[in-house]
Amino acid sequence: MEGLGTGIRLDTDGDCPHCGRPILGVSHDRCDACTKLITGFEDLASVASRLNAIAPGWTVDRLKAWIARLPEQLAFAYQRHGWKNLGWWAEETLWEGWARTEMSLRGRGKALQLEEVIVERVQVAGLDEARPFVDFRLEGRRRAYLYEPARGRVLEGSDAPRPFQEFWTARFTGLEWPSDLPPCLSCGAGLPLEASACPHCTTPVQPSIGPWSVIRLWPLDAQGSPVLAHGNGEGVLDTLLGGLSDLI
Ligand SMILES: [Zn+2]
Ligand SMILES: [Zn+2]
Repeated sequence: MEGLGTGIRLDTDGDCPHCGRPILGVSHDRCDACTKLITGFEDLASVASRLNAIAPGWTVDRLKAWIARLPEQLAFAYQRHGWKNLGWWAEETLWEGWARTEMSLRGRGKALQLEEVIVERVQVAGLDEARPFVDFRLEGRRRAYLYEPARGRVLEGSDAPRPFQEFWTARFTGLEWPSDLPPCLSCGAGLPLEASACPHCTTPVQPSIGPWSVIRLWPLDAQGSPVLAHGNGEGVLDTLLGGLSDLI
């Protein structure tokens, strides 16, 4: 993840609405010249053509629909310890870190609860066809808190729904699959998230990789800038959906 770029070069798709200079480059979705957010970034013609170069057949809308489901799906798999199933959506380095974190919490009689995850808005925020990856801003609400399974009570944090704002990056793997669910590698049926074995042929679930794989995620501050809590992007490997950062 070290050295992963922060944005794209745009020849020009018009002028920056803040500083009026031609848009030549974007770091995440900020103007390179004045560093202010360019809203409507994903509507620029160059963004659509560059996305098509990264992932043929994927439009901005299709990609946003795929990403919008991820927070809820990852939370669902996390709650059920379906770590292997997470490989369909996220890099092994990420889900292994989440599994270790949760096991460590369990060892101390705690558990992270992630519930009622609702994504209200997804925006494409950057892309790079050389790597290739796409950045997203996600906004929504969720319940995230530390729980004591033995006594069934909230330990830290509030169990009330709270807004979240995050920056996610996913890489295109080039692997397409006609189903939105991970496939059984034996019979090809789509596997429900909670499955440990295929409901059709009973083959145990094997990790498989989906068309997009999440490689990093950062909480965003009120100004919409990524919060580099540990000084660099590596430290957020232990940050699950941003929920852990304010609780541990
Ligand atoms: Zn500008
Ligand atoms: Zn099967």
